[in-house]
Amino acid sequence: MLNFTVGPVMCDESVLALGAIQVPYFRTNEFSEIMKENEKYILKFSKAPNNSKVVFMTGSGTLSMEAVVMNLFDSSDNVLVIDGGTFGHRFVELLEIHNVSFTVIRPKFGHSVSECDLTPYDGKDYTGFLVNIDETSIGVLYNIKLISEFCKRNNLFLVVDSISSFLCDPFDMEKLDVDVMITGSQKALACPPGVSIIVMSPKAINKVEHNNPKTLYMDLKLAISNQERGQTPFTCAVSILIQINKRLKDIEASGGVDFEVERIGSLARYFRSKLSELPFEIISHSLPNAVTPLTVTNGRSAYDIFSVLKDEYDIWVCPNGGDLKDKVFRVGHIGALKEEDFDTLIAAFYDMQKRNLI
Ligand SMILES: *Cc1c(COP(=O)(O)O)cnc(C)c1O
Repeated sequence: MLNFTVGPVMCDESVLALGAIQVPYFRTNEFSEIMKENEKYILKFSKAPNNSKVVFMTGSGTLSMEAVVMNLFDSSDNVLVIDGGTFGHRFVELLEIHNVSFTVIRPKFGHSVSECDLTPYDGKDYTGFLVNIDETSIGVLYNIKLISEFCKRNNLFLVVDSISSFLCDPFDMEKLDVDVMITGSQKALACPPGVSIIVMSPKAINKVEHNNPKTLYMDLKLAISNQERGQTPFTCAVSILIQINKRLKDIEASGGVDFEVERIGSLARYFRSKLSELPFEIISHSLPNAVTPLTVTNGRSAYDIFSVLKDEYDIWVCPNGGDLKDKVFRVGHIGALKEEDFDTLIAAFYDMQKRNLI
């Protein structure tokens, strides 16, 4: 099986093997050391400012998105949110559920936000800004520098869902003045799904300490105070946290976050350079490194291409849903993939073309 989806993705063999061992009891010094090491590497790879903190939540990325909305905002806030696809829309739904006032910014389809999208909101009474920096559903990477400058000049609290961008695209939490960054285990961290991660700046930690959300499981005050001793308030996804530890150490040993970003970027460029003879067109004008969103230009169904690849070639690409189901599919560049794997995928496309299937 070859998996080119955008999560869950292929795990490295050594990480995979750690998922097969008996789960150790976790209220121990040994496990606390692993968790402290995990925090150290996440802080380093996100380039977080001094005195930032990390919490590891057991649950998928959406759990951390919800925890952030509940713990960092309340009914006295008024925020801006970019709704450019499925994940942007998820923030909108969460803000609605938790009674946080918001205004939606909807960039042109397939494009990043522009200065024109933001200037109408300069100098207004907004308090925060939420963005999924890589809108994974359509493969659009928003311009984080532009957003960061807008937030700085308007003194906005900036939340970045970097779930599919962390380790893939250049990111510097301190320089960009990002207050909260969210990521998850099943994207470029290339571990099984089940853990999501929240990095908080000192400003964010202070905000959490003064907020009283109505939740126990998602109370970030509890998560922060437990992580101080390398623990979690409740039973965590122990095995996945051990796998994350191995993966983080491997990234460090092979050159660190910048090297990993370059590795994934070069796989993305490699794949994109092989498309010219195929009836596909890239729909995004601002491509992230994690994924290439493709539309089929000869009228064939994108969903059928996904199905045939899965059933007849044992290759997984990522289908789209809703209105885009027959129009768009995506090829991910994250996980334990090499150039040869992309050669295999391209060869499968050519074979399908020969069989008159695309
Ligand atoms: C994958 C992803 C999520 C998380 O989705 P879950 O299914 O809850 O893990 C959130 N935001 C973005 C941008 C993503 O790519």
